[in-house]
Amino acid sequence: MNQVKIGKFIAICRKEQNLTQEQLAEKLGITYKAVSKWECGNGLPDASIMMELCKILKITVNDLLSGEIIKTENYNEKAEENLLEMAKKEEIQNKNMMMYEWVIGCLSSITFLVLIFTLYFAVENTIVKVILFILAFLILIIGISFALKIETETGYYECKICHHKYIPKYSQVYFAMHYGTTRYLKCPKCNKRSWNKKVLTK
Ligand SMILES: [Zn+2]
Repeated sequence: MNQVKIGKFIAICRKEQNLTQEQLAEKLGITYKAVSKWECGNGLPDASIMMELCKILKITVNDLLSGEIIKTENYNEKAEENLLEMAKKEEIQNKNMMMYEWVIGCLSSITFLVLIFTLYFAVENTIVKVILFILAFLILIIGISFALKIETETGYYECKICHHKYIPKYSQVYFAMHYGTTRYLKCPKCNKRSWNKKVLTK
């Protein structure tokens, strides 16, 4: 996807509808800076407002993502191309998020272990020992909670039985048994419990 081309296309369509950046932004409930950013080729509209934007500009999402009006005979081919690219983008973003999760999980676990070793072998004072112990646990719990929050919101879990892909509740993920990122969860579609694998795209 060519962001600069898409940006220029948005500007052209906006002017055809006789709208200023401010007027378009107001219709979408966003700031005109966001509109100006897209039109300069810095970033794409969020998926959540893409439909609304296309309706206002009287174009299809496919046109928008292609940065031009797509002729009917090329429509399906172009639509598939755009879908694939969107999926690829999502996958890369999700891969990065999973890496952050891993780093946060590792750092908090290592800090926990270092603190526990220190208080066990190097600290004599009981009060300091207790404080270090509480601190170690706090760091571990906060680190893991944060990592699990990322894991819950990144990608989907796939039911092993019906292959439904879904985003579970944070509390479900938090308390589920797991190995790696595969978790024992109850599928919201078939209501059966199974080992659900983490997948990065739908
Ligand atoms: Zn299921």
